[in-house]
Amino acid sequence: MKQLSVVVPVYNEEEMIALFFDAAERVLSGRYEYEYVFVNDGSRDGTLSALKKLALQYPCVKIISFSRNFGKEAAVTAGLAAAQAQAVVVMDADLQDPVELIDVFWQKFQEGYENVYGQRTDRSSDSFLKRFTAQSFYKIYNKLADFPIPYNTGDFRLLSLRAARAVAELPERERFMKGLFSWVGYKSVAVPYARAPRAAGKTKWNWWNLWNFALGGLTSAATIPLKLWTYAGLGVSLFAFIFAGWIAYKKLVWGNPVSGYASIMVTLLFFSGVQLITLGVIGEYLSRIFVEVKRRPPYLVDEKINF
Ligand code: UDP
Ligand code: MG
Repeated sequence: MKQLSVVVPVYNEEEMIALFFDAAERVLSGRYEYEYVFVNDGSRDGTLSALKKLALQYPCVKIISFSRNFGKEAAVTAGLAAAQAQAVVVMDADLQDPVELIDVFWQKFQEGYENVYGQRTDRSSDSFLKRFTAQSFYKIYNKLADFPIPYNTGDFRLLSLRAARAVAELPERERFMKGLFSWVGYKSVAVPYARAPRAAGKTKWNWWNLWNFALGGLTSAATIPLKLWTYAGLGVSLFAFIFAGWIAYKKLVWGNPVSGYASIMVTLLFFSGVQLITLGVIGEYLSRIFVEVKRRPPYLVDEKINF
């Protein structure tokens, strides 16, 4: 059995394939028994042909190519399912995840850790807004979710084969990987590292993507946003009950000069707002349940090479 499978999701990374491969070879070649599992996530540039060229020359380069773009989570899932070595490393193709860290990961694996994750120590390459929103997300997520995730941790990690299989076999369509990795458990350890800027090409993220990513993560891991409204409703009802008593008392003692337009409008608008938000939260979960019950496969494979 090989020692290492290196799973690399790639989407429109034609400039990065050769760069990544050379960098990884410098760490792996002659020191490990290893294979690469490149998952081509429906790239529209020369990524696939660059990969095929490598695969012709090196039998250790395996390729899974999707029928279209299914997203990084699907690509990582396919890679984890196909990996066959004792330990599986997941890393990006853009060299933001330093290849040298594989040695440290492997060391930890030898010590008995099965879930070894890279943790970013330095986010100074990110803007203030990015750091602030990321920080807030981790805080909120860890308050609400049943299984906390470590701060500043991405998909870059080493998993034992059984941990990798376990993640790949989780049946859900909403695949918030950090959440799945922590759900699986096993003996885990963080390896701090400084995240390099992208070596070439550009990131696929924008603010709208990130917002939906955060929502998807939260709704897949926490049910508190759904349950909260029962208690909010109970609180409001209690308040309304007391308030009704107060109004009845006023009416009996002082009579009722007709006024109160402002207070009626404010209450009306406030509670219409609350009701819409509640409906929105339910809709958010409902739409995800809808996606889950359709039970479509998370990805479709077009071709497999060197398997
Ligand atoms: N990626 C992918 N499918 C996608 C988007 C990205 O497989 O739909 C890959 C991409 O090729 C890269 C990794 O996921 O290897 C991380 O992507 P990116 O660098 O854009 O994310 P960032 O590092 O900015 O978080
Ligand atoms: Mg990147």
